[in-house]
Amino acid sequence: MKEFTYTMRPARVVFGSGTIRAAAEEASRLGMKRALVLATPQQESEAQAVSSVLGPLSIGIFAGARMHTPVEVTAAAMERVNSDRADGVVAIGGGSTTGLAKAIAVRTDLPQLVIPTTYAGSEMTPILGETENGKKVTRTDPRILPESVIYDVDFTLGLPVSIAVTSGMNAVAHAVEALYAKDANPITSLMAETAIRSMACALPLIVANPSDKDARSDALYAAWLSGMCLGAVGMALHHKLCHTLGGLFDLPHAEMHTALLPHALAYNAAAVPEAITRICRALDSNDAPEALFNLPKRLGAEMRLSALGLPADKIEQAATAAMSNPYWNPRPLERNAITTLLRRAFAGDKPIAAY
Ligand code: NAD
Repeated sequence: MKEFTYTMRPARVVFGSGTIRAAAEEASRLGMKRALVLATPQQESEAQAVSSVLGPLSIGIFAGARMHTPVEVTAAAMERVNSDRADGVVAIGGGSTTGLAKAIAVRTDLPQLVIPTTYAGSEMTPILGETENGKKVTRTDPRILPESVIYDVDFTLGLPVSIAVTSGMNAVAHAVEALYAKDANPITSLMAETAIRSMACALPLIVANPSDKDARSDALYAAWLSGMCLGAVGMALHHKLCHTLGGLFDLPHAEMHTALLPHALAYNAAAVPEAITRICRALDSNDAPEALFNLPKRLGAEMRLSALGLPADKIEQAATAAMSNPYWNPRPLERNAITTLLRRAFAGDKPIAAY
């Protein structure tokens, strides 16, 4: 018998198609009378749609969210919050927009309603990564966790297929590392295995037919489960590598997760047999790292970190950074093996068993 501790996060979820119709009711439940709607510049039209649904509860839109939550963007949004006397934020978008809502909430304790349109899973975590002077700093605080989330599959139908694939693999990465987390427990493992299976089944169907609503719904469900895993247990080598490379070289978030995940799993595989059994079962494969390489590659994802912007002469620097600030990983960190891993990911080669 394995003892465990599991902290349930108190977020409320409305899931379905057309669920955006519940936005005003959900905002009211959180006590909002003057909600500021947040989005990226690319998703301003979705923000308009949300603002219309909110009706008199909406005091307007701030469409300046950017990846990695730069503090200067938060400062500009905070000016709007203060000048317009907002009493809550409604975020429509991916992890970048959710990040802005979280950054406002941690400064003000205002309630957040989040409507995710990618599979990043940030809406389910009390974690915020903010960038200042080129350095990304992550913190955890109960005020950061959004109070309510509306998953409306209709808002994901337009997610370009290429982003759906990499964002989906970003979600799978949360689930994979949750399976071998130091504080893994039977509940998160259930969610993680289901998430991997559901996402792996959904992505090829989405690529074949981007308007397949059932597949889009399965992917969104998997993203929710993966986000819960990310918010509930600690991550390891894979997330550390992504954090390091993202911070140092500004590599695109979901794409980088996609390219690194098979290699990070191969590095840890021998140390985590139970997790490998579950991942193989979920992917219907007998080689989990290879299956996690083949799936996105077959669906058109870029698997070369070189093409994502990692400079060839920075691999050693990246390996050094990955070894710094030691963190828990099921297998001890070995410099040479991590360098080899990064070299293979740089070239887009398949993962090998002998890292
Ligand atoms: P993103 O939010 O930056 O979105 C990528 C692009 O796709 C944006 O231009 C966005 O406007 C567009 N987009 C999003 N949904 C769309 C849709 N349905 N249709 C068309 N375009 C759409 O990307 P992301 O991968 O979701 O988020 C990445 C950010 O989230 C990173 O900063 C990452 O660190 C953060 N993140 C944080 C956590 C956490 O728990 N704190 C978890 C995951 C990701």
